[in-house]
Amino acid sequence: MIKFKQHGKFFFHHTAVRRSKVVATIGPASASEATLKEMLESGLDIVRLNFSHGNQASHAQLITRIRQVAKQCNRGITILQDLQGPKIRCGHLIDDLQLQVGDKYKLIYGSKQTKPDIIPIDYAGVCQDMLKGQRVLMDDGKIVTKIHASYDDHVVVEVIHGGLLKSRKGVNFPDTSLSLSALTDKDSQDLLFGISQKVDIIALSFVQTADDVVQVREIITNLGEDTPIIVKVEKHAAVQNIMEIAAVSEGLMVARGDLGVEAQMERVPSFQRKIMEAGAVYGRPIIVATQMLESMIESPSASVSEINDVANAVLESADCLMMSAETASGKHPVLAVRKMVSIIEEVEKWTLTHRKTFRNTFRRRRMENLKELEVHESVAITACEACESLRAAAIVCLSLTGSIAASIAKWRPSAPIIAISPRFDVVNRLNMIWGVYSLHNPLFYKTDKLLQDLPLSLKQAGYVKAGDTIIITGGIPISLMCPTNMLKIDKIT
Ligand code: ATP
Ligand code: MG
Ligand code: MG
Repeated sequence: MIKFKQHGKFFFHHTAVRRSKVVATIGPASASEATLKEMLESGLDIVRLNFSHGNQASHAQLITRIRQVAKQCNRGITILQDLQGPKIRCGHLIDDLQLQVGDKYKLIYGSKQTKPDIIPIDYAGVCQDMLKGQRVLMDDGKIVTKIHASYDDHVVVEVIHGGLLKSRKGVNFPDTSLSLSALTDKDSQDLLFGISQKVDIIALSFVQTADDVVQVREIITNLGEDTPIIVKVEKHAAVQNIMEIAAVSEGLMVARGDLGVEAQMERVPSFQRKIMEAGAVYGRPIIVATQMLESMIESPSASVSEINDVANAVLESADCLMMSAETASGKHPVLAVRKMVSIIEEVEKWTLTHRKTFRNTFRRRRMENLKELEVHESVAITACEACESLRAAAIVCLSLTGSIAASIAKWRPSAPIIAISPRFDVVNRLNMIWGVYSLHNPLFYKTDKLLQDLPLSLKQAGYVKAGDTIIITGGIPISLMCPTNMLKIDKIT
């Protein structure tokens, strides 16, 4: 009999499997074993390690702890490494700074604050590139200042819109053109570190062109790995080049914080839709990020508008919803995960009973973009058609690299997708895809035996029940690890 190792912890019934996944950034508020455990048990799917904070030693420790906790919980966990990219930040402050309207501060290149009226900035070109009158925004644009005067070794800014500034917050210069490369030295080192730690997904910050992605892909390939790359769309240029970028990456993140500051807040909602459309065309998972449950940083409950924001992302069938400070440095990391899970479940209860409308809009939209199909894409569409017409309980895909699961998920079928792979890293990475429930199984060798055993094994493991119809896709002969070329329909007895 086939023995599966499951990834997440779900009660498996097709209306009870959550389709959109939850990502949480791990930071001081959530790094303890007990909190990690509670978050996993509350339904957390993916942990994000933000390499803008901490160092390699602290991240290594955290990765070990996360994997241990997942093991204790008897499940897998997906680790996403977020590379800092050329983001400019303020340095360490002596104390949090309350910036008041009209106050003046000196911006100086450095990592530590030496006097209360100085704000250190980790960008060496701070004096050369800035001109009087240009804006300097801090903490995802929450604080607005303007350059009052520029000198050889510092610039003076005047506060236009005040706020509380904490250490290592992001600083944006929307009016200034800066000379920065896409992958910094720190990013290259962190990338090597991430690959050596076998992180499951790599997120690239401040990507502007498809070429930025291709360069990183080359490094990863040269290291002998095929780790998926998620592009954080947070530059206006990336939105403009979104189709080319979607074509060469494995996923897109709507990084709304920096995007809103770089472009204009009011444009973020339409950008979000544009990014989701690009993801839909190429079958790339989408992560919606930033301020999703922002008030839960302080409060144990979320506001109605935040709940609506999360719900709207689910209605648009985002693959993942992400939390940043809510879980990294907020007061209620576990409650935030629970809230996210419960909003998703509640909305999906609705979408799954109103499937028709949803399926049709998605299909229409995507059919328009179809050109000539490759074999695996054709199998994916046929599997989804069969799933709808036979009201199947699951689409089961057997695959080495897992790419077929994304091709199937692209059509947003109404049954969950059970993806089975012999590669543990593939099982982990598939977890970021909408509706996919991934399982590990040792390599299969005999096609006939596998197809004979699979239905019963799935039934015994509790994923399907007698009377269910399942759709199976795979590449046969299985011993040759062929790309997907087969579709089989089975009735569970
Ligand atoms: P990015 O632009 O990459 O999102 P960020 O600074 O906004 O960077 P987030 O991961 O979005 O970082 O988290 C939001 C806030 O949570 C941070 O500004 C920081 O105050 C806090 N935080 C996140 N991770 C850590 C960490 N590992 N250590 C300390 N603080 C953290
Ligand atoms: Mg970043
Ligand atoms: Mg952020």
